Amino acid sequence: MKTLLLLALLVTFSLVANAKTPIGIVIHGGAGTISRDMMTAEQEQAYHAMLGHAVNQGYDVLARGGSSLDAVTAAVTILEDSPLFNAGKGAVYTFDEKHELDASIMYGLDRSAGAVAGVTNVKNPILLARAVMEKSVHVMLSGMGAEQFAQEQKLELVENSYFDTEFRYESLKRAKQALVSLPHQANATFDPAWKMGTVGAVAIDSNGNLAAATSTGGMTAKRYGRIGDAPVIGAGNFADNHSCAVSATGHGEFFIRYQVASEICARAKYQNKSAAKAAQEVLAELKSVGGDGGVIVVDKKGKLSWAFNTQGMYRAMKTEGGEMHSEIFAAKE
Ligand code: ASP
Repeated sequence: MKTLLLLALLVTFSLVANAKTPIGIVIHGGAGTISRDMMTAEQEQAYHAMLGHAVNQGYDVLARGGSSLDAVTAAVTILEDSPLFNAGKGAVYTFDEKHELDASIMYGLDRSAGAVAGVTNVKNPILLARAVMEKSVHVMLSGMGAEQFAQEQKLELVENSYFDTEFRYESLKRAKQALVSLPHQANATFDPAWKMGTVGAVAIDSNGNLAAATSTGGMTAKRYGRIGDAPVIGAGNFADNHSCAVSATGHGEFFIRYQVASEICARAKYQNKSAAKAAQEVLAELKSVGGDGGVIVVDKKGKLSWAFNTQGMYRAMKTEGGEMHSEIFAAKE
């Protein structure tokens, strides 16, 4: 009897010891006023195709045993290179008709992080954020200094006009018409239709390590070197193996003031609730104070989720043993 009990204990122990968290990745391509009547069937298809491609490439990194850091970097680089999203090529215009890009990345294992703000000539800001994390003693670099560092790191540099797209230029013209006065307050009412489209990814790898990456052109018609939440660790991006990893998109001024990404993970950690539930709560609270946007989340057990308080959010996920799926609108139609 005793031997049997011992055997059962041993089996249970080895099962628990070998119980690995599943690998998985979630990505987003921005949240906002996205409705079916605003898009043609071709546009919809193009978004699904690009989201699917990015999430699959990220997942492949994980499936080959690669790190979550490499997976989120791969997915975000693809989204930056696509003109469909407000990051890298396709970034929104500033009031002065230029592009200023923000990005950040964080690793849940040791909470190392890198961020860049207001860069104008780096093709893939997420690669620069990663270089800041891995090759500098700093966490956040901005403007000309960040660009000098990019040059030293031999990252690909481009003319600012590389980021141009007709579609975003039209948005700028509409935004300027709407900006009768120039709101620069966190509470100022912007028309959400022309301000969003950030990209991001969160992932968990086969070692159970979490990572998050976020990249954006910021908000249309932004002025005075405005920096959003995307490069602010804890606001638009966060990862900690003890709780969760989050990448956000939305009205950055609110995400900074409400520390959205780290708030979700803190609630999961200290209030003993799922990160998915914490995300729903935080996004609902944000809505009640006027903050529009959304988040993607992976928790320490590998559960993937998303939450948003807008009409839609470009998003896709793939987890171990599951099918890849992408969605755009709030309710699956
Ligand atoms: N969060 C970004 C910012 O405020 C914008 C976005 O997500 O679309 O810069």
